[in-house]
Amino acid sequence: MAITIPPQSQDHQPGVEGKMKPLAIHIRPDYKGSGKLNGKKALITGGDSGIGRAAALHFAREGADVAIVYLEEHEDAKETARLIEAEGRKVVLIPGDVSSSTFCNEAVEKTVSQLGGLDVLVNNAGVQYVSNDLTDITDEVWQRHMDVNINGYFYMTRAALKHLKAGASIISTSSINAFAGNKSLVAYTTTKAAEMGFTRALALQLAEKKIRVNAVAPGPIWTPLQPASWGPVDPQAVADMGKSTPMGRIGEPSEMGPAYVYLASEDSSYVTGQTLHVNGGMIING
Ligand code: NAD
Ligand code: MG
Repeated sequence: MAITIPPQSQDHQPGVEGKMKPLAIHIRPDYKGSGKLNGKKALITGGDSGIGRAAALHFAREGADVAIVYLEEHEDAKETARLIEAEGRKVVLIPGDVSSSTFCNEAVEKTVSQLGGLDVLVNNAGVQYVSNDLTDITDEVWQRHMDVNINGYFYMTRAALKHLKAGASIISTSSINAFAGNKSLVAYTTTKAAEMGFTRALALQLAEKKIRVNAVAPGPIWTPLQPASWGPVDPQAVADMGKSTPMGRIGEPSEMGPAYVYLASEDSSYVTGQTLHVNGGMIING
């Protein structure tokens, strides 16, 4: 699975799949679904591309209908919808900004009315702006990280809760940076660690209701976020991404999807408040 990535940059965040060289892989052609999510309804934020698209395609292959929230990347969202429908599942596309609680409430209501319920929420939409010096981070950039990465997870989860029943699952995409830190991503790391606290506390609160709450902490994964966040600062850093992991390579989104299936399905029925580390072998204290 080792791929060669040339130096590259995308000048706008969120980035888009079509400009990535090479294109990313979101599900292995030989991934076999076995009905682990038959009849489930899932809502995935940032499900148009990258890790969210991988979760969406794996969920669909396992029998779930999927609603996708995304900011503005209509082409990526349409392609994800096409791929979900090719699995024989229903899809709903919901563009909008998760930093608005009003939008999050509407997105959940739209999901429930169009899919007929909600069983799995994946909080995954995120922003990441690189800065090598804390004093270069403006109020606006700091606040945008908080608004999308923390508030977005809270607003979506709060809106979803009244629909989630015993057996439901909430999954948040955090990051290895929440555990290892990252000297060029102080604002981002702060939000990813907050998502861990959110996951652990909410897991305790919802255990009684039999709703499970877990996180996935990816290492470096080949998604549009990489060229759109690192690219403008250092295009070579995009090309080198993942080379320092024990496996010596970046991961594909297709290597993330099964972790979401595990946490969404009954296979993880005794797992809550935990984090899955899918990161090419980096050992962290968490
Ligand atoms: P991506 O660009 O494919 O996905 C991020 C998505 O977030 C976008 O598709 C975009 O539509 C959505 N988004 C951004 N701002 C939004 C907003 N205000 N409202 C609604 N949606 C918004 O990149 P990705 O790498 O797949 O990112 C998914 C998650 O994975 C993020 O939370 C990111 O922090 C996390 N993550 C990524 C990596 C990696 O190496 N790629 C590593 C660790 C964690
Ligand atoms: Mg996208």
